[in-house]
Amino acid sequence: MDFETVIGLEVHAQLKTRSKIFCGCTTEFGRPPNTNTCPVCLGLPGVLPVLNRRVVEFAIKLALATNCRINRENRFARKNYFYPDLPKGYQISQFELPLAEHGWLEIEAGGQSRRIGITRIHMEEDAGKLIHDEREPKSYVDLNRTGTPLLEIVSEPDLRSPAEAAAYLRKLHAIVRCLDICDGNMQEGSFRCDANISLRPRGQAELGTRTELKNMNSFRNVQRALEYEERRQRDLLLDGEAVVQATLLWDADREVTQIMRSKEEAHDYRYFPDPDLLPVSISEGWIEEMQASLPELPAARQTRFVEQLGLSVDDAEVLISSRELADYFEAALAGFGNAKKLANWIMTELMRELKGEEGIDLARCPVSPANLARLLTMLEAGAINGKIAKTVFAEMMLSGADPETVVKEKGLVQMSDEGELAAIVREIIAANPEQAEQFRAGKTKMMAFFVGQLMKQTKGQANPQLANQLFSRELNG
Ligand SMILES: [Zn+2]
Repeated sequence: MDFETVIGLEVHAQLKTRSKIFCGCTTEFGRPPNTNTCPVCLGLPGVLPVLNRRVVEFAIKLALATNCRINRENRFARKNYFYPDLPKGYQISQFELPLAEHGWLEIEAGGQSRRIGITRIHMEEDAGKLIHDEREPKSYVDLNRTGTPLLEIVSEPDLRSPAEAAAYLRKLHAIVRCLDICDGNMQEGSFRCDANISLRPRGQAELGTRTELKNMNSFRNVQRALEYEERRQRDLLLDGEAVVQATLLWDADREVTQIMRSKEEAHDYRYFPDPDLLPVSISEGWIEEMQASLPELPAARQTRFVEQLGLSVDDAEVLISSRELADYFEAALAGFGNAKKLANWIMTELMRELKGEEGIDLARCPVSPANLARLLTMLEAGAINGKIAKTVFAEMMLSGADPETVVKEKGLVQMSDEGELAAIVREIIAANPEQAEQFRAGKTKMMAFFVGQLMKQTKGQANPQLANQLFSRELNG
């Protein structure tokens, strides 16, 4: 039996505002427990929340960047549930009138682009954190995070595979980073994702029973968890068993899902409009102002890289995966105009060194774009060869020095002196008469052996084109 996978994602992006959503407390990460708090975010009686204007601005920007329709009048609602990290006994969120609806994002999957619908984007406050003591039967509550602003971005169930889910997530991640509204750190939970997944017989319109996956703190984990769950559900259905609707936790170490609780429905939360907050009214002028402040978005930048710089769609997609990486590329391009060669170098040499679980960490890169451009200019001009360029680059990554200094200090300038190289070439031929005979008898593959010998003797500094010419000349008499 052939099944179709249906996936929808709910992403929570923690906003980079300086203060919380409904009070003036700082949102700074890593402070001592319960110090970033005040009567408002502690949920003490008699206090009133005041909306942080910046949160609405960030939300409008994201709504515009994801092609959403903004609800000019939207409002906050109380989502009631009890949990020890939620001091008020309810979370202020948005329900029937969210900030934005009906958007979409375009993703590249399986060589074609697909449009994934965005159901809604709403503003809400984060809860606190529970810290469970592993040695004693005790838990601690830290309310520093309580009231940190979040945007929840809910997709339509338009995704058809775990790979598409990961592609959508990467795209959204690139956008929030590009807008500079969220730091995107998945390990610290500033960009987190829950997924709904169900299977249905291909051709059936009705959706199958879904499960919800939580606790996936990297792109890789999201894809792995969904792949696992897709397999688990398919096996159940093939055995004639039913999928039970539930919330599952992904255990990244054991690579299995575990049941956390059976799933709540919206009515369990008894939503109602929050009487402490006025409806949010957004003027046309405010939206226009936010529109004008948007940076060039990843999709537009990718198109420009392809159309104006001649990069392939795939290469451009890698470069725009983070705004910092794309900025780095463009800054280096100012000093070295061959976009393709530059992109290749960045995607291989640079990214190999800097690749982390969530993409490229350019904050750790000691090589400035200008220095990378100078290194590639030296390579292009033949002052150094490709092998040496890699050695120089590795040294630049260690010390942060400029390429000229590294080349000079390590004596790595390419040997292009014909007389000097010819002498070594003759020595090598004299020392390897058998190989020379084979070459003259037509075994032209021996050329690689001779050039290899030369590179060994010159520590890779010989100009390879010249080396080839000299061997041809000397061997052929
Ligand atoms: Zn506070």
